[in-house]
Formats: sequence, C-alpha cells, structure tokens
Amino acid sequence: MHLRCSNTECAATLDLHDRALSCPVCAELLEVVIDPPTLSPAELRRVWLERRCSYDPRDLSGVWRFREFLPDGYSEIVTMGEGNCPLIKGKKTAQWAGLGNLRFKHLGWNPTACFKDLGMTVGVTEALFVGAKAVGCASTGNTSGSLAAYAARAGLHAKVYLPAGYVSANKLAQVLDFGAEVVQVDGNFDAALAQILRDANDGLYFLNSINPFRLEGQKIAMFEMLEQLGWQAPDYVVVPGGNLGNGSAFGKALEELHAAGFLDKLPRMVIVQAEGANPLAKLWRSGARELHPVEEPETAATAIRIGNPRSWKKALRTLHRTNGFVMDVSDQEIAEAKAMIGRDGIGCEPASATTLAALRKLARQGEIDRDAVVVAVLTGHALKDTDFIVNSHLREPALEGVCCA
Ligand SMILES: *Cc1c(COP(=O)(O)O)cnc(C)c1O
Ligand SMILES: [Zn+2]
Repeated sequence: MHLRCSNTECAATLDLHDRALSCPVCAELLEVVIDPPTLSPAELRRVWLERRCSYDPRDLSGVWRFREFLPDGYSEIVTMGEGNCPLIKGKKTAQWAGLGNLRFKHLGWNPTACFKDLGMTVGVTEALFVGAKAVGCASTGNTSGSLAAYAARAGLHAKVYLPAGYVSANKLAQVLDFGAEVVQVDGNFDAALAQILRDANDGLYFLNSINPFRLEGQKIAMFEMLEQLGWQAPDYVVVPGGNLGNGSAFGKALEELHAAGFLDKLPRMVIVQAEGANPLAKLWRSGARELHPVEEPETAATAIRIGNPRSWKKALRTLHRTNGFVMDVSDQEIAEAKAMIGRDGIGCEPASATTLAALRKLARQGEIDRDAVVVAVLTGHALKDTDFIVNSHLREPALEGVCCA
C-alpha cells in the first residue's frame, strides 16, 4: 500500500506512512492506494460477518472490522467501538418526501455523535504510529470534538482552531470536556483552516479531512451500509457536503468495492449543500472548471458553513464516476426536513437534514423515481445543536405543518 497524488495526470507516489499532506510535485491532495484483497468477495463477506461474534477490539470497531481495505502496519489502534451504526427506515419522512424506499444511515450513533469518529480512529492511529505528540485541526465543531476524544484516548495533546461564535454550545462542551486546547479564530471555518495551516509544524500532526488516513476510516460507512443491504447497491446515496471529504471518501469506497467485485453497479452519489454555502453546487450549475469560493458562507447548518471546500476536486470526481450530482437547499427547507426526521423519532443535526430536504425536492420535481432505493446519510446526532431545535420550534410559523402537526 502507498500514498498517491489524487491528480490522475500526476499520480506521483509516496510511502504509505509519509507525513506529507499534499503532492510534492503538483500540490494536489493525496490518497491511500489499497492493495487488492487476496480473498474473494464471498470469503471477505463471511470473514466480516464472523468478526461480529468476536470481542477483539478491532472486530468490535465498525471500522477496523473491514481492515482488509484499510492502511496496515499498526501494532496499536486507537478505537472506541466506532461505527456499528443502524440503517433505519422512516415512515413519516418517506411519506413526506414522496419516496417508497428510503432509509437513513445514522452516523450520529458514533462515540462522539457524528461520523468524524470513523475517520479519527484511523487518523489518530496513524498519528501515534508516526510518533506525533500533538494533533490538531480546524473545525466547525464536530471534527474538534472527535479529535479531542481520540487524542485523549491515545494520550496525545489536541489543539483545535474554531470560528469564534459559530460553534454550537454542545460541540464546544465536548471539546472542553475532552481537554483539548482551544484557539478561537476571528472569522469562519475557512479562516480557521488557513490559520492552522500557517501555524502547523512538525510538532503538530494535522487531522482535517485533507488527511488521507481520515478519509480511509470514513469510507467504511459505505461498507457497513452495503452489508446491511445484503450487498445490493442502492440507487442513490445522499450525503451533506461541507469541506467535501466525506462524499469523496464514500465515492472511494464504492469504487474500490466495485473494482473488487462486490457490487454489480455503483449507486449515484448526491451531495447536498446549504444555499448560503454552495460553491460546488454553483460550479456544477455553471459548468465552470475551477471552484469559486463563497466568500461569506452563511447557514444555520453550521457543520457545512464552509465557503472554500478543500476536497472539491475529489468530490467532483466521485460525482462524475458515479453519475451523481450536487444540489443545494435553503435553511427553511433544512429546518422543515429536520423537524420531520425528529417526528419519526430519529433526530439529527441540521446539516444532516439537507439530505431529506433534497430528496423531497427531487421527488416533487419528478427527478427521482418513487420506488428508487435511497439511503440518506445522517451525519450527526440531534443533541449536537440543541439551540437550533429550540429556536426553530419557538419561531412560529417557521415549521407550520411540520412541527406540532
Ligand atoms: C463534518 C460534517 C459534515 C460535512 O462533511 P464534509 O466532509 O466536510 O463535507 C456534514 N455534517 C456533519 C454533521 C458534519 O459534522
Ligand atoms: Zn501530484
């Protein structure tokens, strides 16, 4: 296994455990190249199922259980039993969206209540492996909470850069509880990311989603989802897009599984942004070749309040390879969809509800078949942003017909 430049025209390679964050030749992002598995899909499916009866910490993790598709060489892994997240049907939500076969893959069921844990178990394991003493990230909240928790487990110092005033109290509380050093940045996430990249040095192992090891962990959500679907690919996988690491990671998983013979077809990947933070949706509509960052991203879905997503090229590649597309939804549509998911007893954070909001739009416009098999990925737990919930339900009639119906 090794690292490779994600720019296919360059494709420079580096050692797997090199600490570079970008290609030394062309500066594009790196990705992990996984060796093709030696076992057949049928054999691997059986091994992965058998591991569910094991108490080995690697098997109890919904990420490391699929380790044939992960970077290797580790003698110690940092895990808290992440993954193992349910695939749930929602009755009212499906009816509301006008879909007959809708399921939610709820990644808010993770140790720190969002999907970032899937990436951190691999990212922090790698940090330990290369001898880092401190780890750092810029974050809209969730990455920092997850980093702080896994760093604490590993005995590493965590330093997190947060946009001052734009992180929910619940997320900030997690960061403080797990003992991270907090740097409040005057500005949005993009400014926080720029600042940590300026401050970064060899003493601080960098764990934003441009780190390819994090994406390896996050991609495993698709393995678990497909196992839960009996390895029948759905027609659509719908995911919120912020810095666009997660959509890219999911695309990588689907391509790898397709290439290894696990899937007959690729699901279409749909990435959803908030209207006020929609640089990829704008690029898609305009047909432009380069991303134009949104200078002042604005949305109440703070987890995706990002104007200059670093993984946009990887995400675009996923959309092209899976015949997918990107769209955007308004904050009002997000609030309604979120309230609906709550009324199904499921709940999620605002960014996650972009998925249902988009699906309802697509179904109403006749752009998605009523009977299509659809998985919407819920990225975070309802308790990640309780102010949003209280405020949107008290601000009548914002949710008329949805809440208190
Ligand atoms: C991080 C996050 C996102 C966005 O993921 P990207 O990889 O940045 O696109 C969406 N929803 C939640 C809840 C998140 O924490
Ligand atoms: Zn390159």
